Amino acid sequence: MTAERRRRRLRIRGVVQGVGFRPFVYTTATELALAGEVGNDEAGVLVEIEGTAAALDEFADRLRQPPPAATVDSVECTDLAARDDTGFRIVGSIRAGGRTTVPPDAALCDVCAGELRDPGNRRYRHPFINCTGCGPRFTIAAGPPFDRARTSMADFTLCDSCAREYADPADRRFHAQSICCPGCGPVLTYSGAGTGDALADARALLRAGGILAVKGIGGYHLACDGADAAAVSELRRRKGRGDKPFAVMVPNLETAGQIARVNAASAELLTSAAHPIVLLPRRRCPRYDHGTDAAPSDLAEAVAPGSPDIGVMLPYTALHLLLFGLPGDPPGPRVLVMTSGNTGGEPICYDDEDARTRLAGLADARLSHNRRILVPCDDSVLRVVDDIGLPVRRSRGYVPVPIALPMAAPPTLAVGGDVKNTCVVASGRTAWPSQHLGDMDRPATLAAFETAERHLERLTRVTPARVVADAHPGYRSTGWARRHAGQREVRTVQHHHAHIAAVMGEHGLDPAETVLGFAFDGTGWGPDGAIWGGELLVAGYHGFRRLAHLKYVPLAGGDVTVHRPYRMALAHLWASGSGWPENLAPVRACPPAERAVLAHQLRTGLGCVPTSSMGRLFDAVASLAGVRHVVDYEAQAAIELEGSARDVPTGRAVYRFAVLPATEPAVIDPAPVIAAIARDASDAVPAGVIGARFHVAVARLVLELALGHAEITRTVVLAGGVFQNSLLLSTTRALLRDHGFTVRCPQRLPPNDGGLALGQVLAAGAN
Ligand SMILES: [Zn+2]
Ligand SMILES: [Zn+2]
Repeated sequence: MTAERRRRRLRIRGVVQGVGFRPFVYTTATELALAGEVGNDEAGVLVEIEGTAAALDEFADRLRQPPPAATVDSVECTDLAARDDTGFRIVGSIRAGGRTTVPPDAALCDVCAGELRDPGNRRYRHPFINCTGCGPRFTIAAGPPFDRARTSMADFTLCDSCAREYADPADRRFHAQSICCPGCGPVLTYSGAGTGDALADARALLRAGGILAVKGIGGYHLACDGADAAAVSELRRRKGRGDKPFAVMVPNLETAGQIARVNAASAELLTSAAHPIVLLPRRRCPRYDHGTDAAPSDLAEAVAPGSPDIGVMLPYTALHLLLFGLPGDPPGPRVLVMTSGNTGGEPICYDDEDARTRLAGLADARLSHNRRILVPCDDSVLRVVDDIGLPVRRSRGYVPVPIALPMAAPPTLAVGGDVKNTCVVASGRTAWPSQHLGDMDRPATLAAFETAERHLERLTRVTPARVVADAHPGYRSTGWARRHAGQREVRTVQHHHAHIAAVMGEHGLDPAETVLGFAFDGTGWGPDGAIWGGELLVAGYHGFRRLAHLKYVPLAGGDVTVHRPYRMALAHLWASGSGWPENLAPVRACPPAERAVLAHQLRTGLGCVPTSSMGRLFDAVASLAGVRHVVDYEAQAAIELEGSARDVPTGRAVYRFAVLPATEPAVIDPAPVIAAIARDASDAVPAGVIGARFHVAVARLVLELALGHAEITRTVVLAGGVFQNSLLLSTTRALLRDHGFTVRCPQRLPPNDGGLALGQVLAAGAN
């Protein structure tokens, strides 16, 4: 007697397209002698499977160990009538209802890297080698589902050998949508003079100290030899870059370990499928030496002048590996500066025609190819805090992976904020954050925003019925939302409420939950017209109450003071009644004429806006400690203050904020902290010690406020760009946990304004 046959339909959701999932299903079903078929549709993967109940159960078990790049979110199972099916088939994409996204771009896998180096392989040295588990996805896809015909690989007709691999269920490139080889794939071109071997010529240019534009996955990079001080300085000059650190690419983890401190957690991130830039503590840095066992550094100081960290990534395409050279090639650079192909603040250049003109003055030559990039996407940036990845910029390798929402949202577009802009499209229980788009004061960013937003709607098939924006009436993003809303409803959300709601959302906190939300950042519009940024809110998705904030100090002249932390130090000294003694560094840094004008402004309030910004307080302290008086890029002063303070003991002395609880909101007065720092600075206490004491003071302030409101809830959210500071985040989190608080921090989206849009979706509420 044969066992009774059954048939089931399995609907599998998650990251299951373009990751070798159908071949995996095929192989598994074939091994278990099951009949049926598998196909992609817009909701994910659909399997119909027929066989004995035992084999079907075994099949369901094996689905729990999918291929490495795949993530199964859910499997829905329906029983069907058996129909004596035989054989198992992969069918083309099924276009039905429902939604799925295209998978994110995945870095070159180890097997493909091995084939690249194997002279016996037919893809030896092929710059575009990829497989079902690796290669470009999001950046070459016109829309879902992820099929070759809907990608820029449709420009290339498969040769017979590739077609055979594509059709062979036993091949590891079975149904690999971007499959190609030297005979049928994209072709490299080099714009400069040389031997005609594009790669050899490009490597020669880099060796000679030239600047090379390289077409990558999500756009063009500008590359030069990271050990060549003259080349790095020239790249800085051409980009108009100032002191902002460049990221580097190194050929392997070993080289990464020679220029920076790499631990197990950062190594895991560096080698993950996303291959992001990871910010690592530098070795052999003139100002901060993190680690005494340093090998000689290959890094020119001009790569990241004065920065305690260095952004490092590993090669994520075959082309990158070939730039460093394979065995037998003349030695290439050991460290490559790899910076976005653009001039400061503009969106990354990705179109070949655009590259020809925009990069002409920046690069000495272009190494390009004829596979079109359909969607620009910058490199992602993370740092590692307490062995956990903290996103600073979520882009290539992560987008368009959706985030599950704790409650259903109507079809929504949230436009984010004006700096580090990203937008979010959401519907039901799902939200899709866009890639990093940039600062909205650039007209080109606004254009990139519109393109990205339309593409995200196409990809997700969501037609937003509601538009959500920041409550700041002067934000360009808010203005865009109002101009483009048409008949749709526009809602606005207070900046810091959105920051807190975003963190609640990514942790899936219940809609009924209330948290103590600390939102510390540089700038956010408050409903009282002040610039907020040192805020304790008791918040849920639906609203908030301001429990405490840093005491307002006058921000004189807005941007001028943001760029000159010594002015913020003088404002805080003035507000604390400490005076401006000549022996203090910020006082000396401020020219006497400017000092006179500033004093007048502070006295009269002329051209001043009150601010409770924690970011500006970090600026003031950095200047008081003598670390940095004028900044060249955002958060530079705070970053260098943190760098000087890492691993530095605080000694006995502590700084303490005064909390004036008589009012609600309570006012946190930094005056005692400022006065103590002024005393320490006068006594020539080292900057690192002042920095360390200040970080501890802020962490203790958070604890004190949390304890004071613990009767409301013991769940604390830490949000806002100030918490990108790893020393502050780590110290604060540890203190809170020691006192029994549950601490929620950003993990999937950046703490900075790049994470704002998700919070806007949630804070705008359900229908
Ligand atoms: Zn591969
Ligand atoms: Zn081929």
